[in-house]
Amino acid sequence: MKQIGHFIGGKEVAGKSGGRKGDVFNPATGEKSGEVALASKAELNDAVEVAKQAFTGWSNTPPLARARVLFKYKDLIEKHHDDLARAITVEHGKTFDDAKGEVVRGLEVIEFACGIPHLLKGDFTENVSGGIDSYSMRQALGVVAGITPFNFPAMVPMWMYTMAIATGNTFILKPSEKDPTTALMLADLFIKAGGPPGVLNVVQGDKEAVDAILTHPDIAAVSFVGSTPVGRYIYHTGTAHDKRVQALCGAKNHMVIMPDADIDQAADALIGAGYGAAGERCMAVSVAVAVGDVGDKLIEKLAPRVASLKVGPGLDPQSEMGPLISGQHRDKVMGYVDTGVKEGAKLVVDGRGLRLQGYENGYYMGGCLFDNVTTDMTIYKEEIFGPVLSVVRAPNFDSAIKMVNEHQFGNGTAIFTRDGDAARAYASSVKIGMVGVNVPIPVPMAFHSFGGWKSSAFGDMGMFGMEGVRFFTKLKTVTARWPTGIRSGAEFVFKAR
Ligand code: NAD
Repeated sequence: MKQIGHFIGGKEVAGKSGGRKGDVFNPATGEKSGEVALASKAELNDAVEVAKQAFTGWSNTPPLARARVLFKYKDLIEKHHDDLARAITVEHGKTFDDAKGEVVRGLEVIEFACGIPHLLKGDFTENVSGGIDSYSMRQALGVVAGITPFNFPAMVPMWMYTMAIATGNTFILKPSEKDPTTALMLADLFIKAGGPPGVLNVVQGDKEAVDAILTHPDIAAVSFVGSTPVGRYIYHTGTAHDKRVQALCGAKNHMVIMPDADIDQAADALIGAGYGAAGERCMAVSVAVAVGDVGDKLIEKLAPRVASLKVGPGLDPQSEMGPLISGQHRDKVMGYVDTGVKEGAKLVVDGRGLRLQGYENGYYMGGCLFDNVTTDMTIYKEEIFGPVLSVVRAPNFDSAIKMVNEHQFGNGTAIFTRDGDAARAYASSVKIGMVGVNVPIPVPMAFHSFGGWKSSAFGDMGMFGMEGVRFFTKLKTVTARWPTGIRSGAEFVFKAR
């Protein structure tokens, strides 16, 4: 049985003998594929010590030299693109092409971070007062940590540690225990790119490791991505221990389809955004808001396509949708579908009965499509995180936007329309962090920043982009005078002018 350990001080380290372990599965077959070490508090503490030792050298390494390591790292990730994607697919289940796409979205953050000498340039003002200059700089925080979800085992860690390391910090990554292998490969490639040992460390684990991170006095900041209840806990516990915390959380992304929208385009968008990665994306569209008379036309286009989605193992190039992450999660998603039916929604396509010959133990389900969902239903209110799309009908634009704004989540949203005025009004007044106009999954590029509003994010800075630079650095401002003339003696008041 494959044993999956940690990566500390530049090498793989086995879990402590007799320590706890978690099972890792291949969701396509339902077979156990390995055992992952679950770190104790003592193991986490040892890793922090290693990261602390590496901090002095790394934070004093010129940003240009750090960037050179990142350039090599980018090259190596490109060379190992397929290996990384395969590792993602066999533990997560998503299709191989989707896994490759995930790696590219992470690479884009590395490409952005290669410009770190420019990004870290401070401000300078000559003569803030007679003979006095002022300049500001941003300095690394120290040892920082990232806690990541199962659904993007490469991209989300890369969002975090790339920016943290580029800005001079050393990093402890605690990946999801459900798909832990990719993180080890990424850490190994960083060493091969010339990254010093101890700068990027991986500590596998569950709540015990997370709690050790949140309470460790030498961890300055914690970046989290995952579900809202856990994110809320991490934000409150981390900040109560004086850490800077950003926690990006769950979602219920609405796509509003206006009566003038191109229905074929909207249906295409909904199929990709609702069922891609089996709906296990924080930017997946899970609610289609059909405005005016759009509902019937939309259901007519969507139903046959949802019913004929090609579900299969992620490594099969024919598959459009892979399995879910675990049997337990698949059952939870199916439970939501049961609840939707009980609460009166119309189940237009029922994917609960799907069985795949040869893969009977895999965690598959077919796509599900609900119509006539209302805002009081559980399937509307809660994040399902599976291949289930709900169509809600709204009489007009105002009621659609009201619905979106009243939802507890505020991660992403989209509007499909040909009316620039409606699109502009939507983008301006919607209470959501990331907005698409005729773009169903409006994930910002690396040089913008990623983040939601309301219960989709806690803390006030987004991931990567300049927000990432700010999150992982602290500001210092120097006011300098080099007096050569007569000293004026002590001053006891602020000068009025
Ligand atoms: P999760 O919250 O269960 O786990 C996330 C991380 O927290 C994992 O590393 C896990 O080990 C740890 N964890 C789990 N339970 C914990 C507990 N009780 N105490 C301390 N730590 C704990 O999330 P998940 O199921 O891995 O990922 C899916 C969720 O992530 C969805 O809600 C999805 O919307 C969200 N997500 C959000 C974004 C975003 O950018 N907003 C991106 C990806 C995923």
